[in-house]
Amino acid sequence: MFIKPARTRFAPSPTGHLHLGGARTALYAYLLAKKTGGQFILRIEDTDLKRTVPGAEQEIMDGLRWLGLEYDEGPDVGGKFGPYRQTERRDIYQHHAKILVEKGHAYPCFCTPDRLEKMRQDQMNRKENPHYDGTCRNLDPDEAAKRIANSEPYTIRFKMPHEGVTVAHEHLRGDITTENKQLNDQVILKTDGLPTYHLAAMVDDHEMQITHVMRGSEWLGAFPLHVNIVRAFGWDEPIWIHLSVFLKPGGKGKMSKRETAAAMKDGYSIFIKDMQELGFTPEGVMNWSALMGWGVAEDDVMTVSQMVDRFTIDSLTPSPAAINFQKLDHFNATHIRLFTTEDLTARLKPYFTREGLIVKDDVLLKMIPLIRERLTTLDDCISFGAFFFKEDVTPNPEDLIAKGLDAKQSAEIARRAYQILEAQPDISHERCEPPLRAYVEESGLNVNQVFGILRVATTGQKISPPLFESMEIIGRDVCLRRIQNAIGILEKL
Ligand code: GLU
Repeated sequence: MFIKPARTRFAPSPTGHLHLGGARTALYAYLLAKKTGGQFILRIEDTDLKRTVPGAEQEIMDGLRWLGLEYDEGPDVGGKFGPYRQTERRDIYQHHAKILVEKGHAYPCFCTPDRLEKMRQDQMNRKENPHYDGTCRNLDPDEAAKRIANSEPYTIRFKMPHEGVTVAHEHLRGDITTENKQLNDQVILKTDGLPTYHLAAMVDDHEMQITHVMRGSEWLGAFPLHVNIVRAFGWDEPIWIHLSVFLKPGGKGKMSKRETAAAMKDGYSIFIKDMQELGFTPEGVMNWSALMGWGVAEDDVMTVSQMVDRFTIDSLTPSPAAINFQKLDHFNATHIRLFTTEDLTARLKPYFTREGLIVKDDVLLKMIPLIRERLTTLDDCISFGAFFFKEDVTPNPEDLIAKGLDAKQSAEIARRAYQILEAQPDISHERCEPPLRAYVEESGLNVNQVFGILRVATTGQKISPPLFESMEIIGRDVCLRRIQNAIGILEKL
């Protein structure tokens, strides 16, 4: 069956960090475009100048690329429907606002901010929902033209129908019917000549030939207005899809600033940039967020390209999804196990260098199979494997004392182990493990006592990857030196 290629867009406002919700919206839009052989577009909605944050646009672009959501058209890649930054499209919006005024669907409004504020207060005092009272709706057009000619500041408001109902079709929710008398004449062009979201997004979605509008369900409230704007122009409507909201862990309400900060303390974040720094992988983040709002099996492990094959908009669900960071851990760990050793080498290296360690690639390649199964986040490689790259380790003296023994006895064990290892022609685990096990047998000690001392001596920590394989990678000379050092520490206790 031929499926028409979809043109989808991710249209963030550069007002803060790229977060989980945005990333998931972008993912679904990307999946639909790729599934149908269409295009995925990045459009920057920056018309609210007061809220624009410097650097936010770059963070969005970097974040999308890191996640693997390469866009076909966008501010920094161009495309034939550009520009893709709304502040560079002022003329287009002014032209369209004028069309609506001429068609009788919009009107200039000269109400001052003071007057509007007073109106709002009065309405609230009367326990009414704040709404525009229509003062300028029926202004005589000649009078309006005169005031414009006199340079009086004005906005353009959309003239909402007063009678009847608006029926708007939403893909996941069916027909949504709203009484028109509940609707408000919203500003679509501001006094500074810039559009509000309501006009800019409708114009751009049309001009950029967007077939499916995927956006957060916080826009459902403005949905009847948007449908009316599109219809006033006489344009075909896109397919509208309002994605489910994310609730904080536990379920009730959205993540507050305080909860976001608390999550960060636990090693989690809802911001993509933080997730990257915390050692989450794009594969893990995408898999985790994809399943919050998409009705496939909850534990399906997929890369973005595997998602493309399976994606349909009909399988999206409108119900809110609670954020579950344990699942993020699960997906991240699962994907780490699926990476090739070479791939993981390249991903882990920056975490070691970030710690000031000098990484030898051959050592990294050898140690990865030993630590891979233990990693939940990429930065876990530090706690499991930094000792491979350190000149020397500094074990906690107490940890060198084996359970049930004292420092003297532990030093004796370390000395014996040293002799055994020194007598071997190499430090391969095949060579070293049998004589050390034989020593455990004949000495009547237990494995944990002997190997525990060796582990702390050679790795500097109580928990490590498999001991003999680790020692082999650390190398003979370094191992012997570290054991010697441990003996010295024990002798001083
Ligand atoms: N600029 C809007 C926002 O960031 C975009 C909504 C949309 O995708 O249409 O919420």
